[in-house]
Formats: sequence, C-alpha cells, structure tokens
Amino acid sequence: MKITVQPSFRELTTLRLGGQARCLLVPQCDADYEAIPREAERYGGRLLALGRGSNILAGDGEHDLALIRRPCLAAPRVVRTTSNKVLVAVDGGMTLAGLLAWCIKHECSGLEPLAGIPGSIGGAVAMNAGSHGCECFDLLQALRIWTPKDGVVWVDREICRAGYRRFALQGYDGVFAVLEALLAFETCSRDVIRKRVKSWFVRKKSVQPLTAWTAGCAFKNPLNHSAGRLLDQAGLRGYALGGMRFSPVHANFLENTGKGTATQAFELMDLARETVAKRFGMVLEREVEVLECP
Ligand SMILES: Cc1cc2nc3c(=O)[nH]c(=O)nc-3n(C[C@H](O)[C@H](O)[C@H](O)COP(=O)(O)OP(=O)(O)OC[C@H]3O[C@@H](n4cnc5c(N)ncnc54)[C@H](O)[C@@H]3O)c2cc1C
Repeated sequence: MKITVQPSFRELTTLRLGGQARCLLVPQCDADYEAIPREAERYGGRLLALGRGSNILAGDGEHDLALIRRPCLAAPRVVRTTSNKVLVAVDGGMTLAGLLAWCIKHECSGLEPLAGIPGSIGGAVAMNAGSHGCECFDLLQALRIWTPKDGVVWVDREICRAGYRRFALQGYDGVFAVLEALLAFETCSRDVIRKRVKSWFVRKKSVQPLTAWTAGCAFKNPLNHSAGRLLDQAGLRGYALGGMRFSPVHANFLENTGKGTATQAFELMDLARETVAKRFGMVLEREVEVLECP
C-alpha cells in the first residue's frame, strides 16, 4: 500500500483547492484493503473513498479524514456475452475516459453520453454520474466492494438505490469502496461508438468549461429547471469573489481561477442559493460534494 501523510486536496481534486487530510491510502492490490483499518487508525481520521476528486469541494483547513484512492489495478474483462449484450467487469479505479476508449475498441455501447466526465468508475457509481439522459446506474448489474466490516464482497443491483446524482447500498450505512463494477453493454460497431463519443464530447466542450479548474456542476437542476439558467438569469454568470467565480462559460460551474479558496467558494454558493430563492422561489441543492473541516 502506498501511503501519503497529510496529502493536500489541491493535488487530489480538479478544483485544486482545500486543506489537508490525515493520510492517503492507495492499495496496490486487493489484499492491501485488509490493512486499511489499521493504517487509518495509525494516522487517525474517518475513512472516505476518493476517486479522481472531480466532484469534491474540500474546506481550507485540516480534515479528519483517511482517504482511500484506488488506482486502476486491472483492465476491463468480459465476463459473459449474449447475442447483443456484453457483461464487463470494470476496475473502480479506471477513468471513464479510459473505459470509453476500451469500449470503442471492444464494440461495447451504453456510456457514450458520459464522454468528457473526468471521474473514475468508482466515483461515477457513487455519484450515479449521468449526462444527456444516460446514468451510470442504467448499466450497473453488480459491484465488488470493500467495507471495514465485511471486507471484500459482491453486492447485486437489487440492493442499490440510485437517483439523480445519488447512490446508496441498502443495509450498508458506513463507508464502502468500489473495487469493481459489473456493467451490461450493448454490442455495436466500433465506428458508431467512436462517432457518438466524439459528438457527445464536442457538445459538452461547447457548453462547459472542461479545461478550467472546476468540480462540475455546483448545484443539481431543480425539477423541470436548469440550475445554470437560473444562475445566469440571476446575473451570476462570471460573478467573482477573490480567486473563485461562476464560470463565464456555464454559470453552474464554480471555477478556481488560480488562487481561489474553499471559503470563497462557500460564500459564492451561499450567495447563489439566496439569490435564486429570492428571485425565483426555488431551493438549489448542492451537486458538488462538500467536505467540511471540523
Ligand atoms: C469538467 C467537469 C464536468 C463534469 N460533468 C459531469 C456530468 O456531465 N455529469 C455528472 O454526473 N458529473 C459530472 N462531473 C462531476 C464528476 O466528474 C462526476 O461526479 C464523477 O463521477 C466523480 O468521479 P470521481 O472519481 O472524480 O469521484 P470523486 O469526486 O473523487 O468522489 C465523488 C464521490 O464518489 C465517492 N467515490 C469516489 N470513488 C469511489 C470508490 N472507488 N468507491 C466508493 N465511492 C467512491 C466519493 O466518496 C464521493 O462521495 C463533472 C466534473 C467536471 C470537473
């Protein structure tokens, strides 16, 4: 297991800000998970699974957290094929971009609309990441997870509870880390999948600040409304506080322009919620996961 003491969230998240955790535990094989509770106890801190950090806004101070980050330990493996379906076991540490490249090569269709999302499979499952009507849960059949209580176990889709950017495992209250996800793809020609991936990516890039330092959408869309449009109409597109601003490209993306802090991000989010509530009578719910310091 690779261990980093006091890792900085600046280096672990796409928003590139925030303080430090107690430790970062990076298992190098499945057997390493056994040592996680012991190592977490040694350095202190509550266990938290971390993927690519692309949906995380971490507070500026010291976090009482022991982070578990799975690297990609194995290439996807085909478990079963039927006439038009392919069941594939995908490592929780694999990136969505890496999986989509594999899908093109192996003629597996289903996740193309997720092109451009900079997360891992573990993070995509835990957030039920989605785009343009396609969600990770649509394909999910089973998960291999690790929990401090049960160790490594397989769980079926039946105990998964998923919705708009939320996911839970019934009967599992504490932390769980996704080691592997079993996804059901449809077979399709490689050229068609490649074209779809490219077209979704181009579309996303034209409306979202994909290369800026952000954590994706700050707020969920209220029913039948777009959070980005509400923020835009409230005059917040491009609005800045210190080194943080609502992106001029897409008002629902909070952007760190270089020297932004979590404190500034929290202030901007409070302002957005207040303004939208006052002007439109709507409550904005956070999509980005906030890690607050004690
Ligand atoms: C430019 C940009 C565009 C984006 N576009 C979209 C979009 O279109 N749709 C969308 O849904 N999201 C989008 N996002 C948000 C984000 O990329 C997704 O939510 C992604 O799935 C998060 O994956 P991650 O690996 O970065 O997870 P992290 O941000 O590291 O973690 C997110 C959550 O998942 C949990 N988690 C992470 N890994 C694991 C694991 N192995 N086991 C268990 N739990 C785990 C964490 O504990 C945390 O609760 C975007 C982000 C950016 C920066």
